[in-house]
Amino acid sequence: MYIGIDDTDSRSGMCTTYLVVVLLREFQDIADIIGFPRLVRLNPNVPWKTRGNGAVTLRFGIGAGSRIQIGHIEGEPVYAYSKLKKTVCIDVEDIVKAVERYFQLNDPNTNPGIVLSHKKPGERIYWMAVRDIVNIEDIRDELKRINARHKCFKDCRGLIGATASIAWRPRKYTYELLAYLPESEWSSERTISKSSVLKINEKFKTLFDTYDNMNDYVAIMPRSKTPVLYGLRGTNVDDLRRAMKLVDSIPQPSSYLIFKTNQATDDHIVKKKISSVKAYESVRIKGTVISKPKVIEGGHIIFSISDGSGMIECAAYEPTKQFRNIIKAIIPGDVVEVFGGVRGEPLTVNIEKIRIIKLEEMRVKIKNPACPICGKSMESIGKNKGYRCRKCGTRASEKDAEYRTLPREIHEGWYEVPVCARRHLSRPLKLIADI
Ligand SMILES: [Zn+2]
Repeated sequence: MYIGIDDTDSRSGMCTTYLVVVLLREFQDIADIIGFPRLVRLNPNVPWKTRGNGAVTLRFGIGAGSRIQIGHIEGEPVYAYSKLKKTVCIDVEDIVKAVERYFQLNDPNTNPGIVLSHKKPGERIYWMAVRDIVNIEDIRDELKRINARHKCFKDCRGLIGATASIAWRPRKYTYELLAYLPESEWSSERTISKSSVLKINEKFKTLFDTYDNMNDYVAIMPRSKTPVLYGLRGTNVDDLRRAMKLVDSIPQPSSYLIFKTNQATDDHIVKKKISSVKAYESVRIKGTVISKPKVIEGGHIIFSISDGSGMIECAAYEPTKQFRNIIKAIIPGDVVEVFGGVRGEPLTVNIEKIRIIKLEEMRVKIKNPACPICGKSMESIGKNKGYRCRKCGTRASEKDAEYRTLPREIHEGWYEVPVCARRHLSRPLKLIADI
């Protein structure tokens, strides 16, 4: 039986992933967990998301096959089984009873949803929810089709993520090890020693987004006071566990769980022609730069590209820090491929990463052309109109002048926003051999 849960937390507190800890503790005597619990991030551009727009799924049953340790909860190891021997049935009301007290229902943007199902919803539900805006009626129809039980609160929007997280088939995936504080410490101050994070960053090449060395920012610790003390992201489960042992924190975590996740997969990105780009989606578009990057109020930088089908503005916003220096060095004529989320009115692509495919030659004129007949320096007729010899009237074009090529500050290749500005779904360049 799959259990999907979404939209229970708020900007200021809790974390939906903690409910997996609660459920494992509550039902450990009657059910095993089959496979890793899953943390599924959904469309980062939906206007009403709470924090990271992440939903969780776990599969309960009687386990068989091999088992691996995926965490511990207050001293007790937690094992996941590779196979399902027998299904179990748990009533949706019992699930609600176990987790309800953690719902942040006072937050106007928190609309919890819980789905229980023996069957998986169609995979298209996942792709819709990670790339588009989903209609709740479509979700209700799908839940009816697969005979799922569900429970939702307030406007029920949480049903979308709960259903989509069960619908995810991991084609690309990474892992996140989440370390939790005991309930008594949720509102305490916490510190993580920076040197321990630096050591992890240095030692484990399969981890990513741990530390931002350009901005001296420890990226494993959430900014708000939630049950999560830290999260380690990576592609290798053993390395995550080894790295956890090196994290030096006060207080110490009392539990941890490893989630399989769609973070760092670029699953949200759709390759598009500029003319078909819509608001709230995330796109990969290719084009020629047609306007010089300009700095606008707030330190954001905007330029436009065109691919023949249309033109669109691309932006590196202030929180992307040093990345803006790359964008500033772009000039009209450069050919680029941009990955990013689309904001509406006017449509603007919020750049997550960029590939400079071809750099335009940047040059300045140093001398007017000399007349081919009498050898005198010619004079300009007007901007971009060419040259004329004052003595004999011979004409020459712009390209006959003498130019000097200027060095470019950027190279052809990939650039990405720093770790501190990275979106959960965005694939870091260090993982991008397969793009
Ligand atoms: Zn002449």
